[in-house]
Amino acid sequence: MTALQQRFRGRTLAVATMHGKERVIGPALCTTLPLAGFAAIPDLDTDRFGAFSGEVERGTDPRTAALEKAMHGTERSGADLVIASEGSFVPYPPAPFLTCDEEWLVLYDARDGSSWAHRHVTLECMAGGQACTTVDEVFAFASRMGFPEHAMVLKHREHWRSGDPVVKGITDRRTLENEAEQLLAGHGRLWVESDLRAMMNPTRMAAIRATAERFARELGTCCPQCGAVHFAISEALPGLPCGLCGQPTRSILVQLRRCALCGHSAMAPREDDRVSEDPQYCDHCNP
Ligand SMILES: [Zn+2]
Ligand SMILES: [Zn+2]
Repeated sequence: MTALQQRFRGRTLAVATMHGKERVIGPALCTTLPLAGFAAIPDLDTDRFGAFSGEVERGTDPRTAALEKAMHGTERSGADLVIASEGSFVPYPPAPFLTCDEEWLVLYDARDGSSWAHRHVTLECMAGGQACTTVDEVFAFASRMGFPEHAMVLKHREHWRSGDPVVKGITDRRTLENEAEQLLAGHGRLWVESDLRAMMNPTRMAAIRATAERFARELGTCCPQCGAVHFAISEALPGLPCGLCGQPTRSILVQLRRCALCGHSAMAPREDDRVSEDPQYCDHCNP
């Protein structure tokens, strides 16, 4: 039996989520790994680990937060194989004026205490917020953010303080209008923002699906030296040659896979098999 089968065969994956994420995480892992099935852990309060709308600040880094959620899921349900997710909306490092969605997934195996993590960053998620003084401004912002398919949150001000009203999960025009009018009547201004909870934000749900599919492929890749699961990409090395001048660019040339168990590492080609970069991204041809 391979390490992959030993680790996962016949087991049920428990998903520690309140926000419907099992719908995209479960199938992704069950397709790639020899699991028996998946189920959400019922009645789990994951918001106590941090909420997007600001009432609960996350006390730790997202990877640790996801691991804590997964371990909490084990305690609450008795499940021994638990996956949890954690999303953050942060400035995109190559272009800090853009907001990107950084998604983490952590899988925890309570049988031996092993855990594995995967990080995926995407710009393809509707996320933003704006101060408004009229209902028209609220609607203009909401439609730019994919409303009503993407739900809105209305608050008195951007940074939540104790006692402030928060209306989450707004998905219809009448509620948005009524709640906005009420806040404006009381305060003269309000803060409207994307509801970032997965079941309220289809583009975030898609980002979690993409993260889960990538994580599943990494988990299913075994170390050629010791056979352990998750022979995962640990580093990406730049230097893809320019298609015009042949000089190395900042684009990724190869990826490095490393085994966390035995330390074995191996080069892996780019997933798209590209061997040269467009000269527009070359510092020599297009400085
Ligand atoms: Zn190994
Ligand atoms: Zn060039």
